[in-house]
Formats: sequence, C-alpha cells, structure tokens
Amino acid sequence: MRIVTPRDAGKIQIVSATDTRARLEILPDDANADFKQYFSFVARGLSGGATFEIENAGTCTYGDAFEDYRVCASDESGPEDAWFRVPTEFDGTTLRFSYEGDLAALRFAYYPPYPRARRVTLVDRLRKSKRARVETLGESVRGEPMHAVHFGRVPADGQRDDDDARKIWIVAQQHPGETMAGWFMEGLASRLAFDDDEVVTILRENSRIMLVLCMNPDGALAGNHRTNARGRDLNRCWWDADDEESPEVLCVRKALYDHGVDFFLDVHGDEHVPYVFVAGAEGNPHYTDRIEALEEEFSNAMLDSTSEFQTEHGYPKDAPGKGDLRCAGNYVGEAFDCLSLTLEMPFKDNANNPDEGAGWSIDRCRGLGASTLEALVHVIDVLR
Ligand code: ZN
Repeated sequence: MRIVTPRDAGKIQIVSATDTRARLEILPDDANADFKQYFSFVARGLSGGATFEIENAGTCTYGDAFEDYRVCASDESGPEDAWFRVPTEFDGTTLRFSYEGDLAALRFAYYPPYPRARRVTLVDRLRKSKRARVETLGESVRGEPMHAVHFGRVPADGQRDDDDARKIWIVAQQHPGETMAGWFMEGLASRLAFDDDEVVTILRENSRIMLVLCMNPDGALAGNHRTNARGRDLNRCWWDADDEESPEVLCVRKALYDHGVDFFLDVHGDEHVPYVFVAGAEGNPHYTDRIEALEEEFSNAMLDSTSEFQTEHGYPKDAPGKGDLRCAGNYVGEAFDCLSLTLEMPFKDNANNPDEGAGWSIDRCRGLGASTLEALVHVIDVLR
C-alpha cells in the first residue's frame, strides 16, 4: 500500500509499509514539539484490508487518551463528511487498528478534519444567504484572513452598534486538532443562515451573533494538534496576545472590545472525557453570584435542548481566584463581566449515548451546534 500525506491537515510519518501492514509515527506540531496527538493520512492500494500501527501513540501529549478510543476512517472518493470508526486497540505504547472492507483508498484520522476549502465554501454560502455579513478582523501568522460572520441586528455600514442587541460571540478551533469544533460551527451557522424556525427568528431579532469559525487556520492546515504557526497555544494567549506570536487572538480580542460581549462560547474537543460538557469561569477574580446563576441557567437550557449534554462529568472546578486568565473563557468573562463558557465535545464517543458505528460523529457535532442556539434563546433575556 501507499501512505499519502494530504496537503490539508495531514500529519504522519511512515516507518515502513507492505501491502497489508503499515508502521507509522505521529509527528509533532510544526513549531512546538511539546504537542503531538493529531494525525490524518490516506492509505491507497489496499486490497482486502490492512493493519496499521502507530508506534509512538503512547508517548503523545495525551497518550493515555488513546485508551477506549477508535480511529476514524472514510472512503477517500466519498463525501468528506461520511466517516466511520474502525476496530482499534491500544496497549499503552502502540495504537493498532485495522480495516477489513473492500475499499482501495481510505482516509484515516484522529478525528475527521474540517478542510480549509470547506470552510471557504461555507463562508461564501453564508454570505450569499443575505442573512450574514462577513467581516475580516485581521490575518493569521501565515496571512490567512481571520473572519467574523455576523448575524441578526447588524448595523448598516457607517452606523454605530445597536446597544439593545445582545452581543453573542461563538469561536472555535483555537486548538486546530479539535476539528469537531469546525463541524459544530457548520451546524450552528447553517441553522442561522438557512432555517426559518422560531429559535432563529428570536435570535435574529434580539441579538447580534458573531461567529469565528476557525481561530487557528494555520494550525488547522498544518494538521497541528494544539498550536499556531509560531508554536503558540492560542488558548493561553488571551491575556498577553501580540502581533508577532498570536495575531489571531489579538484581532479577535480587539473585535470583542469594539462590539461588546454579553455571551461568549469557546468550542473545543477533549481527548479524555467521553461526554459533552461546559466549563465556566468560577475561578475568575471577579466571579459573581449573577454569573454563577447564568451558568446554571444555560446548562439547564442545554439539558432541555439536547440529550447529548450533561453536567455530571467535566473538568474539576477552579478554586476561587485561581482561574487562568490566559484562557479565552476566563479572560472574556473577567474583562466583560458576562456569561463566558468553554464547550467540550469528545474525540471518542458520548458514553451516555454510544454509537457503535460512528462514535461521536460529524452529524452529532452539527446537531449539537444547532441545538446550542435553542439553549441560547432561553437565556437571551437575562444576559444583562
Ligand atoms: Zn481545546
């Protein structure tokens, strides 16, 4: 067989390959060797199946997270959003997986990549919906445009912001390997742009929704797991963002100050936890009872909106005053005294609702994105 590294989001090194067996190694992020986890490659020339061994899986940044994990696969000539899981074993060192079907060319990945071309097409479709305005906020290290897509009460050119409109910000893929966040945003943005239900109407009439579909376009294209082209973890750059090292955060942060924030959601994926959950800003120096009540209200609204959400499993709570203000969720909550959350989806599956064939799938990411808008409607009147 032949192992091919795609130009978009490919990351793997070949140790050896025969017709039925490939030995591979995951490569670190381009500019930061501390992070090594994401992989994506194409295997061609298969006839009747093959076995793949990633020999350095155990030494990856979240090596133990390969426990109970299954690799994602898709037909290389099929749609880019149709994936399934293949049988996978992890012995603490090597991640071993196999394919036994008839396809001759497959793509394998830690999680299905959200391709750059698909994002460009999506932005274009959103613009053409006539419901969205696309603003270029700045550029990434490598010169990719940083877009915010605005919906709802967007003032005409030259007019000042509408003070009454609630300012909703949702950003994704600060960590580029957490590609489920890209699929989540596709579901959420598509509902806003193309659906005509009551949720969409209420949000468009009462708020201005601003989406950053991908915070880290360079890292996503490179197939990095965690960092940008300068090797920076953007979700540790919000306190001291700068033009050289983290221009992606700097330009989005400025837009937040320009337009205001009443609600902020930062969308991620978690390697270990097999559940959907949110993390709040309880560790912030100026965390208040009001914010705590809003967090609870939003979580309850999510529970009502989707059976994928739960509140039992998640991250340990930060101690009072110990929140890391370099992280987007904490920084924005502290700076704007607003409801500010980090949403996590699994790489593995939702253990409350397991799917043998696909695990935590692209459709479930898109569905969760669309459902999040329902939860938002329930809190929109109390955000201020
Ligand atoms: Zn993340």
